[in-house]
Amino acid sequence: MVALDGPSGTGKTTVARRLAATLGAGYLDTGAMYRLVTLAVLRAGIDPADTAAVATLARNVELSIGTDPERPYARLAGQDVAEAIRTEPVNVAVSPVSAVPEVREVLVAGQRRIIEHVLGTVGGIVVDGRDIGTVVAPDAPLKVFLTASPEVRAARRNAQDTAAGRESTAAEALASVDRRDRLDSSRAASPMRPAEDAVLFDTSELTVEQVIVALSELASR
Ligand code: C5P
Repeated sequence: MVALDGPSGTGKTTVARRLAATLGAGYLDTGAMYRLVTLAVLRAGIDPADTAAVATLARNVELSIGTDPERPYARLAGQDVAEAIRTEPVNVAVSPVSAVPEVREVLVAGQRRIIEHVLGTVGGIVVDGRDIGTVVAPDAPLKVFLTASPEVRAARRNAQDTAAGRESTAAEALASVDRRDRLDSSRAASPMRPAEDAVLFDTSELTVEQVIVALSELASR
């Protein structure tokens, strides 16, 4: 199992998915699970700041997530919402929703069940998140924390926005990734931070391919 944590704009999700495919392992995008709960919150007309209502929804929401790196999917009550969970309203609301302790409790339990199932069937899994090495799977044999300079992260986010048909300037993209990372690192419940025994890996100067080669090597040691 590989625990892959780090802030947005480090290339983490692309790297995690392609690393899983390279290793013949399963893949779990835990960020997509927080995004699914957030989309459900917004669709129910709940204010993300209403923590009691968010907690109740998290306990009852019906979400499902694919673990095949070649065919990831994200569903809410059986409906495909892969695109809807990447929209700007979800980007904005996901950190406050993720900071609600009951949301984390429900999702972490679900993540542990999925990991156990995939390890028992496929044999390996790459898990992408913020708290995988510290909370979800502290016993993972390989923990990696990806980083990148703020400029590089903003440029990558900007490129993602453009690909998704959203206009954003480099300054807006930087403000957006910065805001989310500050919230994710400063929340009381499981703040984002590297595990003590995580390998810190700066991706600023590297292509996705180079990162995958380096991580595959670490994983096969
Ligand atoms: O990885 P992604 O950018 O899709 O994650 C969206 C958000 O979900 C993060 O900004 C963070 O607030 C939350 N998250 C989390 N813990 C995780 C994964 C994601 O709190 N393990």
